[in-house]
Amino acid sequence: MDLSIVIPIYNEAECVEALCQALDEALRPLSKDFEVLLIDDGSTDETPALLAKLVEKYAYLRVIRFRRNFGQTAAMSAGFHHARGEIVITMDADLQNDPADIPKLLAAMNADTDVVSGWRKDRQDPFWSRKLPSMLANGLISRITGVGLHDYGCTLKAYRRSVIQDVHLYGEMHRFIPALASWVGGRVIEVPVEHHPRRFGTSKYGLSRTVRVILDLITVKFLMRYSLGPMQMFGKIGLFFVVPSLLLFALMIGGHLSFLVFGTTLAAELVKRPFWIVSATMLMFLGVQFISMGLLAEIQIRTYHEAQDKRTYVIRECWPPVKS
Ligand code: UDP
Ligand code: MG
Repeated sequence: MDLSIVIPIYNEAECVEALCQALDEALRPLSKDFEVLLIDDGSTDETPALLAKLVEKYAYLRVIRFRRNFGQTAAMSAGFHHARGEIVITMDADLQNDPADIPKLLAAMNADTDVVSGWRKDRQDPFWSRKLPSMLANGLISRITGVGLHDYGCTLKAYRRSVIQDVHLYGEMHRFIPALASWVGGRVIEVPVEHHPRRFGTSKYGLSRTVRVILDLITVKFLMRYSLGPMQMFGKIGLFFVVPSLLLFALMIGGHLSFLVFGTTLAAELVKRPFWIVSATMLMFLGVQFISMGLLAEIQIRTYHEAQDKRTYVIRECWPPVKS
């Protein structure tokens, strides 16, 4: 199969019919072998009923229903696991992304490209609550991951399936796939895409997402840089505290010895002050904490890499049912 379209859907009853219509118009003329995977992320409105009708109408449509709301990242990850196409394209259900851009992404996906990232050059969202935080976040993500993109947050992106099949996605991590892909040697390019205001339904997110994205960025950076040796990071921080602590203890012991040998000296007077003993003890504690955290992380990261096939979602049913 050539192409899989993956679309997470959460309470989008107002959009799904228009979405399928628009997809049909964009995909049929391509004369490719394609499928559309709609992942119903535990919708509580009429979305499931509408999807049940739509699978009857469009033969290439597959629906994966989650047992509850697991979030957009988990939904995308389920889409990736079930996709059969060589190329996988993700997009939002609310028609803010335009299915008419799909041919453009496919055209940009040549033999040396693994990810084509959509860039909402003329983004139709509120400035203060969306565009500004997103601009800052994109700058930060580009700097920290070393993969410069204008629009990490744009869901409309095309991936070579071989590149995404093995990435494990947690939290809000779907937006970092281009960075993760580049990290495993994938080549990433960017193309400008259309963006429309949300016409139906409401956005599922607020400003709090920015904080979650930043925390996930720390995780991604950590995994990219230290996934095979977290002790390299925690250990360095630990030593940064332990070494001065040892020096302080040496100073105190030296001070007490000089008192025993020479009677009162300046060093002995100095080290009697609580500041020194408190600092030395605190630093030692911090250092030991970091080093033991590093060791724990080493164990964790081994579990992370070695626990195969751990999924972050639970599927209720698939339409049409998949044989396993
Ligand atoms: N979505 C989802 N699960 C969630 C929240 C959102 O599958 O828990 C889907 C939603 O239906 C939409 C896409 O993720 O297709 C993006 O959501 P939204 O349009 O609300 O985000 P925005 O465009 O406002 O950033
Ligand atoms: Mg949207």
